[in-house]
Amino acid sequence: MRDTLPLLDKIPFPPLRRGKLDTLQVNVGYRCNQSCFHCHVNAGPTRPEEMTAEIADLVLEFIERRNIATLDITGGAPELNAHFRRLVRGARALGAKVMDRCNLTILQQPGQEDLAAFLARERVEVVASMPCYLADNVERQRGKGVFDGSIRGLRRLNALGYGRNPALALNLVYNPQGPSLPPAQPALEADYKRVLGESYGIVFNKLYVLANMPIQRFGSMLISKGEFDFYLGLLQHAHLDANLDGVMCRNLISVDWQGFVYDCDFNQMLDLPLMRGRNTRLHLSDLLDETFEGNPIRVAGHCYGCTAGQGSSCGGALKEAAE
Ligand code: SF4
Ligand code: SF4
Repeated sequence: MRDTLPLLDKIPFPPLRRGKLDTLQVNVGYRCNQSCFHCHVNAGPTRPEEMTAEIADLVLEFIERRNIATLDITGGAPELNAHFRRLVRGARALGAKVMDRCNLTILQQPGQEDLAAFLARERVEVVASMPCYLADNVERQRGKGVFDGSIRGLRRLNALGYGRNPALALNLVYNPQGPSLPPAQPALEADYKRVLGESYGIVFNKLYVLANMPIQRFGSMLISKGEFDFYLGLLQHAHLDANLDGVMCRNLISVDWQGFVYDCDFNQMLDLPLMRGRNTRLHLSDLLDETFEGNPIRVAGHCYGCTAGQGSSCGGALKEAAE
């Protein structure tokens, strides 16, 4: 795989500083039952990286000590980590909202038959990738059989009240197939609701529209096809300063499976750690009592993926999110 960081690091981006921390995004490992083409984590079934019990305990201690409002759990398929359910239960007991970045097909994997019911019982918000409402497009990006598996997963969640009960939020995530900007979020959300509702009887709450990040598999593909400069140019030309205030790194830190800390999940994948003075490899255990509001955020060219056009954060388009 081609490394995009040397190219991204040459591209200037406006300086950003951290605001008040309210969300802990935790990547519990890179193992996944899928190997999607656009995956910015380069996850797959054979990845051995897994968060240990000790680091999961540290995450819970951090949530308690720092009064964190939201635990956002990601992977790989985070549910495959042996400590996933303990993390969920522990964070909920501390009063935090929990989000699960769920790929939907995991809900039918052997050993995960009770997963959907567990998520519903713990009132976990499910955020699920669904790059299109058409089977061919989903399978081109995420693999054969993934569309049908995703539809089965959505139906299972709906049957438990997800998307209908206000306490059981079910949000979908869209990203474009190739090097283009995503379409407007409200219109695409309306299309998704109509097609998934009419064709499959599926309901959901929101569609988050995200731009592809020029890193990992997708970034490598851009370099191989000679499209890297074109795509970065597209993102840069669409950049809006107004989106800078809403980027997720201002209120979130990202923790890797070993407990090291980054300004966001994308920086984690580029191995660009959160910096504090001269200390450039901070661990969650270093930050239990420290406030880092005002700390400069490590930015590079990929950050235009968050500020282009309507903007992208883990909560979808920034313009709509602010409205
Ligand atoms: S399901 Fe998600 S984590 Fe797994 S390979 Fe696909 S994009 Fe990556
Ligand atoms: S990629 Fe986005 S979230 Fe990450 S540091 Fe850049 S602007 Fe912030």
